[in-house]
Amino acid sequence: MTVATTVRAYAAQAADTPLAPFTIERRELRPDDIAIDITHCGVCHSDIHQARNEWHDSLYPMVPGHEIVGIVAAFGDAVTGWQPGDRAGVGVFVDSCRSCDACLAGLEQYCERGMSPTYNGREQDGVTPTYGGYSERIVVDRRYVLRVPDGMDSAGAAPLFCAGITTYSPIRHFGVSNGERAAVVGLGGLGHLAVKFLAAMGAEVTVLSRSPGKIDTARALGAGDVVITTDAAALEAHRRRFDFIIDTIAAAHPYEPYLRMLRRDGIMVQVGLPDPAPLNPMLLVNWRRRIAGSQIGGIGETQEMLEFCAAHGITADVELISIDAVNEAFERTIRSDVRYRFVIDMASLRREDTA
Ligand code: NAP
Ligand code: ZN
Ligand code: ZN
Repeated sequence: MTVATTVRAYAAQAADTPLAPFTIERRELRPDDIAIDITHCGVCHSDIHQARNEWHDSLYPMVPGHEIVGIVAAFGDAVTGWQPGDRAGVGVFVDSCRSCDACLAGLEQYCERGMSPTYNGREQDGVTPTYGGYSERIVVDRRYVLRVPDGMDSAGAAPLFCAGITTYSPIRHFGVSNGERAAVVGLGGLGHLAVKFLAAMGAEVTVLSRSPGKIDTARALGAGDVVITTDAAALEAHRRRFDFIIDTIAAAHPYEPYLRMLRRDGIMVQVGLPDPAPLNPMLLVNWRRRIAGSQIGGIGETQEMLEFCAAHGITADVELISIDAVNEAFERTIRSDVRYRFVIDMASLRREDTA
């Protein structure tokens, strides 16, 4: 393949219209490019926020999708170490400046000149729009392509490329160690992987969920305890209990109930990106509590996370859907009606007639 290719995709044309069939161009292969035929793509809540312009920065038409697994179809002249047919993955960004302090430290997600998001962003030229994984094929510089460990199920692997690394990175960075008491707030795509990681790392894990229907699966994922957050007495009983809390809630919510559950010097990490809500500084001051944020993870750390998953038998719990069910999947995700991640079987897009 030496020329740009036209591929089928699903796109949002505006914040208030459903995703619908669309075609996009994938660029001609540059020397360092890898063309990947996409087999699976996870449905992240960030896809919903962005398709609906909830972060107020959406570019249309938008082809969402940044939890991508596929098969290497072709590559440029400078690419070594990859073979056609290899399984490859792509996460939340497809390029960065490669020369700033963050990029040199392997923290490309914090690139000081701005990483190129996989969709709803622009290539490093600052002009060309990027289109994501709800499509047949993607072309990505080899430095931003990851290897899917042998034997790992492709559908279960796809969510690792965003939900997985987004929870793994802060758990590693903020140093949750054996036996520490950790809580996961919100048991969705991110939250269920956070439970698996924390349990595999030896933490004592509690799930804080508003959904009683998730209690049994939360325990099966590795939670020792589940607290239903609509029960004020149960929250009170867990006051100053946790060393580490990871908050994955996708909708605006108060922070106070969770901060009260941190011990002295405990830390609560925000990874969810809902609308803002006020914060009472007294709850931080009184017990020297900390609140922090974390964004996905770097390329090197993402490969490390994949190897950790392979070693511990971790993949996402998924519900496989065809592409024409994606709008319904958005609605069901908002209602927390999925255990725990929708993944699109991209063969369904190849079967669709978009003419
Ligand atoms: P998700 O699958 O929809 O899970 C979010 C969970 O939050 C739900 O399952 C639900 O858990 C809880 N929740 C939802 N609405 C709620 C409400 N109104 N009040 C209280 N709890 C509520 O979403 P996700 O894909 O895991 O993404 C979670 C958030 O992380 C999103 O905002 C997403 O944009 C963000 N994100 C950030 C990064 C990053 O780099 N920091 C990367 C990826 C995603 P329960 O039913 O258990 O309560
Ligand atoms: Zn995501
Ligand atoms: Zn950079």
